Amino acid sequence: MDLLELRADFLRPEEAVLAGALPARIDLPVILTIRRTREGGRFSADERDRVHLLSRLAGSGFSFFDLEEDLDSPSLDGLIAEAGATVIRSFHDRDGVPADLVQRVASLARSAREVPKAAVTPRGSSDLLRLLEAFRSLERVPKVLLGMGDYGFPTRVLAPKLGSLFCYTSPPGELAAPGHIDPESLDEMYRYHGITSDTGVYGVIGNPVMHSMSPTIHNRGLAALQRNAVYLPFLVDELAPFFRAADILDIQGLSVTIPHKENVMSLLERADQEATASGACNTVHRGPDGKWEGTNTDPAGFLSPLLEAFGGSFPSGLRATVIGAGGASRAIVHALVRNGARVLILNRTLDRARRLARVFNVQAAPLDESGLSLVAGFSDLIVQATSVGMPPRTADDPVAGYRFSGREVAYDLVYVPETTRFLSRALAAGCTIIRGRQMLLEQAFEQFRIFTGSEYPDEAKREIETRIESRYLS
Ligand code: NAP
Repeated sequence: MDLLELRADFLRPEEAVLAGALPARIDLPVILTIRRTREGGRFSADERDRVHLLSRLAGSGFSFFDLEEDLDSPSLDGLIAEAGATVIRSFHDRDGVPADLVQRVASLARSAREVPKAAVTPRGSSDLLRLLEAFRSLERVPKVLLGMGDYGFPTRVLAPKLGSLFCYTSPPGELAAPGHIDPESLDEMYRYHGITSDTGVYGVIGNPVMHSMSPTIHNRGLAALQRNAVYLPFLVDELAPFFRAADILDIQGLSVTIPHKENVMSLLERADQEATASGACNTVHRGPDGKWEGTNTDPAGFLSPLLEAFGGSFPSGLRATVIGAGGASRAIVHALVRNGARVLILNRTLDRARRLARVFNVQAAPLDESGLSLVAGFSDLIVQATSVGMPPRTADDPVAGYRFSGREVAYDLVYVPETTRFLSRALAAGCTIIRGRQMLLEQAFEQFRIFTGSEYPDEAKREIETRIESRYLS
């Protein structure tokens, strides 16, 4: 059911008195809310003025009145009951998730006609877990329960699955509460109106994560296949409580990003060869026994555009330089060595390069003039796998001293901006270039195949490429 909430606390006083004209002009049930500043609203005048305004508007055709648990006005309650409207009896906790949440929600409603509502603020994954446990305890209570802020975001999108009567939204650019989402994204990206208790849940865990492109990519694919499933960003600070929350949400698969790629491995029942050789896991999914299995789609995502650049097969005796010795480099060196390449690793911190080189029995050198002088012998492919060149320092290039001959394939893992300084220099010299965006998409398509058992649909691929393009250009 779609509803409209009028936040009269956002109106000027002369506008607020006219609010009573709204319900008759609109074809949706309307909730009237006049939220005080202490609960995050904008109404700062006297409480008597607020009760007076609410009472004036009680007979104006509003279907619901949001009244806080401490608002004690039997005459207002009487006017609302006379008008045949329903009270949403609410409380807000902007600092955390109260220990007595279940009892408080269970005792909020003053009569069977009232709907209890609690908006609380999970401060981390443990709080999200407690909030989800409260949903479970309150399964039989008709209610509105939601988590504010980024940790609470899943409780908004998954409201119909969790058994919360409404999910609140606000227009883009003027969010009425932390964690609100705009109605267009809720519907287009998350297909909210199709979410039910049976909807499958996937997502990406990371910290930070709310900026991730993965929900856009995966949700387009799920929509194109008409799957009853949704993919969300989950901000995660602690893995253990989050995985208990994942059981409550019955999450089927997760993309894993910084900083959890290594630590997540200790929580898995099994990790495959790609994950163990890469020392990191970017994808976890349920095995046949329902337990978590892990893999790493970065090597496959890295190789796919490379093979295309090489005309479909990996050249024998390829000599490659990998710049950087972090998590991504490890997955890449593993993929290259497995295909018979000879590899030189250059890294700012030489020790780290040496440690990685020992694992795969390849060469290591520092990221300075002496290291760059060795590149000529490993220059069929040069992979830029450091974070250098990302915003805000987009003019930076970790191998500014290297002169491209034009025969190298230059590959940059950085995907914002689309063409980094490193790649534009290579392009100017006549090199074939591969952009980080290609790897980003390919590793996501591979995850999609693991999650759904289906190839990522072609029509969604075309749409997603255009969307990413416009996001980069905007
Ligand atoms: P990471 O583990 O944190 O490693 C970062 C690497 O960058 C290290 O080698 C580090 O050198 C180097 N580095 C950082 N700042 C530097 C500087 N100012 N000068 C020289 N070297 C510097 O990160 P990661 O997971 O490997 O990711 C690396 C990059 O790849 C990131 O930009 C990430 O977004 C991108 N990535 C892209 C994809 C894709 O699908 N396109 C997939 C994975 C990663 P030290 O060891 O000396 O600190």
